[in-house]
Amino acid sequence: MTKPLRWKRVLLKLSGEALMGSQTFGIDPTVVERIAKEIADAVALGAQVGVVVGGGNIFRGVAVAAKGGNRVTGDHMGMLATIMNSLTLADALRRVKVPARVLSAVPVPSICETFSQRVAERYMEDGDVIVFAGGTGNPFFTTDSGAALRAVEMKCDAFLKGTQVDGVYSEDPKVNPDAERYDALSYEEVIKRDLKVMDTTAIALARDNSVPVIVFSIHSPGSLVSVLQESGLYTVVG
Ligand code: UDP
Repeated sequence: MTKPLRWKRVLLKLSGEALMGSQTFGIDPTVVERIAKEIADAVALGAQVGVVVGGGNIFRGVAVAAKGGNRVTGDHMGMLATIMNSLTLADALRRVKVPARVLSAVPVPSICETFSQRVAERYMEDGDVIVFAGGTGNPFFTTDSGAALRAVEMKCDAFLKGTQVDGVYSEDPKVNPDAERYDALSYEEVIKRDLKVMDTTAIALARDNSVPVIVFSIHSPGSLVSVLQESGLYTVVG
């Protein structure tokens, strides 16, 4: 018998870099396809899934600011990068027969729909996967914050942060292989100890609205379904 889902409605956050594979820039279609299949497996078990993809594999506003450029323009470009990633993920989802919608916080009506909570709610109820594009729609924010905002707005049971590693560690485990891995942490510990889960705005929003943040590796096959069924490795921040 299939294990029941611990979290039914979830917001999955992936960094843009998760789509790069072994490339140093851009999108690796085979990686996108694999992630789409993982999401399809979760949907087949009855999960309602919203996804936010970052844009760091294409562009980050801070890179412009670091070279003396206009941060706001840079952030606009970063938000456009998230739309590109969202479009490719939605296409990959449709290829595996999952109905997918791209709803963007930045209106680009000839390319995708504009986000509104009411429309998103309707699509989610219908079982469509929603790819929320454009972050918050504002400069000086991150897609982690955009994802936390959507998780709260959509009343998600959990915020799933798919990363390169299988949870939160005391230090970067790639740098220090002896770093301690945590099964559970409080929001406060994450903020106070500045553990690299996501930015403080995003964590604070999750904390203030009691949305648990689950950190897991998006690169280990089957991990999304495992997390939803409360098995496998992950860290719960709550
Ligand atoms: N961005 C923004 N407002 C938002 C979300 C994103 O201005 O609400 C811009 C910002 O320039 C950011 C870029 O989009 O650097 C890509 O997002 P992010 O860095 O969060 O992507 P990730 O690290 O998850 O790939």
